[in-house]
Amino acid sequence: MTNATHPYDALMDITARPKAVFVRGAGSYLWDDSRKRYLDFVQGWAVNCLGHSPPAVADALAAQARRLLTPSPAFYNGPSLQLAQALVEKSCFDQVFFANSGAEANEGAIKLARKYGSLHKGGAFEIITFAGGFHGRTLATMSASGKKAFEPLFEPKVAGFKKAVLNDIASVESLITDNTVAVMLEPIQGESGVWQATDQFLQQLRALTEAHGLLLIFDEIQTGMGRTGKLFHYEHAGIAPDIMTLGKGIGGGVPLAALLATEKAACFEHGDQGGTFSGNPIMCAAGVAVLEEIAKPEFLRNVADTGLLLESELQKVSARHGLGEVRGRGLLLALDLKLPIAQAIVAQAFEAGVLLNAPQPDALRFMPALNVTRAEIGEMVDCLDAILTKAGAARLVA
Ligand SMILES: *Cc1c(COP(=O)(O)O)cnc(C)c1O
Repeated sequence: MTNATHPYDALMDITARPKAVFVRGAGSYLWDDSRKRYLDFVQGWAVNCLGHSPPAVADALAAQARRLLTPSPAFYNGPSLQLAQALVEKSCFDQVFFANSGAEANEGAIKLARKYGSLHKGGAFEIITFAGGFHGRTLATMSASGKKAFEPLFEPKVAGFKKAVLNDIASVESLITDNTVAVMLEPIQGESGVWQATDQFLQQLRALTEAHGLLLIFDEIQTGMGRTGKLFHYEHAGIAPDIMTLGKGIGGGVPLAALLATEKAACFEHGDQGGTFSGNPIMCAAGVAVLEEIAKPEFLRNVADTGLLLESELQKVSARHGLGEVRGRGLLLALDLKLPIAQAIVAQAFEAGVLLNAPQPDALRFMPALNVTRAEIGEMVDCLDAILTKAGAARLVA
């Protein structure tokens, strides 16, 4: 065994990272250890819904840290009761289980559906998910995902996931058998490049699942918590799923996730589900502070407005440079570049002090803080425009 000689070498090399070390964040800006400032349109992967280190979250964490970090998941604590109550009041769900990551919440959703199948549907266990979907990096959630790159990995997969085609209700219907217990999807496929399920498709899914007695599971880990201009994306379609998962934005930057279910679907018995840090008061205190902020009607209206502004600015960039469509809703948008130049743009923007994300070789994704300002949107768009003007889109092709 060799000991790491450079601090970089002590971390498992699981992804390509720039060498900069980030030391501070405030709102839409991040600073690295050379004091370079970056305008951040990634925000920890749509996590920092109120921006970097928002005072409301920092204060809640500091106050709770001095009061009580964690009693035990087998005891009640104030912040988890408060957050569960607030989520239930503001959604169509009746009960909440808290987890530490989105994948863990989705594992819980999968287990809950299988439990429901064993109790009410003669042991049905199959869940219909979607090509292009992403549900996390545990074995079951990788198996539920429809990500091509996952297919050869870590075989054998967890059985029981069949993949349908987004916005194609016949493809879902054709997969239903006596073994089917649920349909699970992201209302906007985030990781695969911001592909939106239409409201009509979501309504068709609700009708189909009801007709067959199946549970409808929404993975709102990326779309929930105000990201699309409503507190939860399902509200756009005017339907109510049976189960929903939340992650990313729910903690405003700290690890927190949630599994929500209607009374009918919430069928775990003692021993079925748990977790050492489930509902720990320190993370739930952050969640309470976040939800208080984003559930305000004026806050959500502002997300919808700034989302429309970002969309129209991106459309102008696209028109000027002969690029493709702008997709998505609220402040979860993608720009189709029509050419595999996304990584080159991300790298040049990084040099210029703007953080962007390329979920696919030919698409950029924009997931700024939900309180991003018009001026910050202008600054990002100017940078993107300058990169495209200087290089010419075609010349960026690697
Ligand atoms: C990020 C994400 C996950 C996984 O969440 P983790 O916290 O990384 O485990 C699952 N589903 C969707 C839709 C996501 O965007």
